[in-house]
Amino acid sequence: MIPIIDLKAQYASIEREIDEAIKRVLRSGHFILGPEVEALEKEVANLCGCKYGIGVASGTDALILAIKAVGIGPGDEVITTPFTFVATASSIVHCGAKPVFVDIDPLTFNINPDLIEKAITKKTKAIIPVHLYGQPAEMDKIMEIARAHNLIVIEDAAQAIGAKYKGRPVGQFGIAGCLSFFPTKSLGGYGDGGMVVTNDAELAERVGMLRIHGSKPRYYYHIIGANSRLDALQAAIIRAKLPYLAGWTVQRQMLANQYDKALSNVHLIKIPFRAPSCSHIFHQYTIRVTGGKRDPLKSFLADRGVASAVYYPMPLHLQSCFRELDYKQGDFPESEKASHEVISLPMFPELSEKELYLISNAVADFMRSVQ
Ligand SMILES: *Cc1c(COP(=O)(O)O)cnc(C)c1O
Repeated sequence: MIPIIDLKAQYASIEREIDEAIKRVLRSGHFILGPEVEALEKEVANLCGCKYGIGVASGTDALILAIKAVGIGPGDEVITTPFTFVATASSIVHCGAKPVFVDIDPLTFNINPDLIEKAITKKTKAIIPVHLYGQPAEMDKIMEIARAHNLIVIEDAAQAIGAKYKGRPVGQFGIAGCLSFFPTKSLGGYGDGGMVVTNDAELAERVGMLRIHGSKPRYYYHIIGANSRLDALQAAIIRAKLPYLAGWTVQRQMLANQYDKALSNVHLIKIPFRAPSCSHIFHQYTIRVTGGKRDPLKSFLADRGVASAVYYPMPLHLQSCFRELDYKQGDFPESEKASHEVISLPMFPELSEKELYLISNAVADFMRSVQ
């Protein structure tokens, strides 16, 4: 079976560095926050073009703590996309605020800036764009709307570390960027982890307090916080991987180009759209399958020994956990359509050209058979 991502192959390629990093932490006797986490915070902030990085327990917590830190809470509305991982919207609810969804651009799968203004009310406090699959959202338009309406922007950059919009890495456009180090993310640890990156000193301080019970200094509490610290083992593992990230990204981009070539003329398949002035890091290589053939293609690929995944099979406005928001089928037609048409193919730096051709041939064979 060709997996969708192969973390065992990745470990095999950097085993010595990882093992050394783990030993370094075990020998240090320092396991929560501390010098490894501080070093990672500097390195990742730098990578994102930000002054500060605050390591937290997960990407979800990065979102929750960033939303809390800017003072969003009950009575506030936050605009985001319904075509994303659940945590983008559930983090808003965790803070007591209300997610307000805006449909996606069918080409990029990212929030459609042209539809944002219609969703703004007196209660709107923020916009959370998501750089889905590793391709930046339209930040110029989003920031312009935010400025005009005095709204905060928090970027969900969990899938897009290092992706650039007009030459600048994501995470630095809004007041904060939220990253995830979940193992399958482009820069993943061997457990949960996340980070808030920002250029705002005050926000950095507040997130830093919130992640450790709202304390500063220890045992003096100013705000009600959480226990959401990054641990030194994860930080050391991620630091060991960091020097490889740029090369891995280039490798994924080269594979995406090859997929594009192999699939561009295949019946009923739409290859990923590349937004102008963006670098897409291809955290996922996601195609559209029209004509109702997505699910049959998925089973066909499984029979041929090719794993695939659907991110995401149901948009958030139709999920029962958000039923109180009172959305219904038809509210966000592009998100609904995408949830029936998208499929992500195996994408990881160690994927061989031979495997890629096997996968794209399988896709082409199936689509020919249904023509
Ligand atoms: C993975 C992900 C998150 C959450 O990150 P965790 O580290 O798993 O908590 C949030 N938003 C998006 C878009 C993600 O892909």
